[in-house]
Amino acid sequence: MTAILLPIFAVLIGFSIAIIAKPTINSSIKLLLSFSGAFLLAITIFEFLPEIYVTQNKEIGIYIIAGLLVQILLEFGSKGAEHGHTHQKNTTHFPWFLFISLCVHALIEGFPISENEHILYGIVVHKVPIAIIISSFLLLSKMKLWQSIIFIIVFALMTPLGSFINQQEFILESYKAPINAFVVGVLLHVSTTILFESSKNHQFNASKLGVILLGFIIAYYL
Ligand SMILES: [Zn+2]
Ligand SMILES: [Zn+2]
Repeated sequence: MTAILLPIFAVLIGFSIAIIAKPTINSSIKLLLSFSGAFLLAITIFEFLPEIYVTQNKEIGIYIIAGLLVQILLEFGSKGAEHGHTHQKNTTHFPWFLFISLCVHALIEGFPISENEHILYGIVVHKVPIAIIISSFLLLSKMKLWQSIIFIIVFALMTPLGSFINQQEFILESYKAPINAFVVGVLLHVSTTILFESSKNHQFNASKLGVILLGFIIAYYL
């Protein structure tokens, strides 16, 4: 049940922060984003990745690479919104490419969350800053408010939907490892991109380095 509710909650918190605080992409959101990227990456490396390799041979790595590739393709549509970018043109039309790419991404990352609590936390922490950034973009655009709200509601439901599908009987036990490997590929790409882009211009930033270390440490001791 928490795997259904927490991801929805994370998006709603992000949306509420965007409405109440009307943040431009300021430094505190960037810190939260850096923390979430470090935390998600560390959980993937400490727990998710070893789990997949325990009983599998080298071939399982192909699914990780496939996940990486699919995430690269998705970012052509989203322009990087799932790692905190909004290069979208300020359009009055409903941003279908952004919407579909983000929904596919959110659906994929929902698959493993009912089976591993720590991955659930990693995904939830990653969703909050992303939801703030996407909501701010939608609210500042010239789109109608109801369109933005539908966008956010459907986006919020995709991760729980992924989790729900993963629990159905037609997802055989033998599919689980390849699916998880695929999700690892997606998460590796998103989290490392967040970290790379958080050190733009390669300027030393003590608070950013601090939250990144904090993300690694908390993930280790979870
Ligand atoms: Zn980017
Ligand atoms: Zn994501």
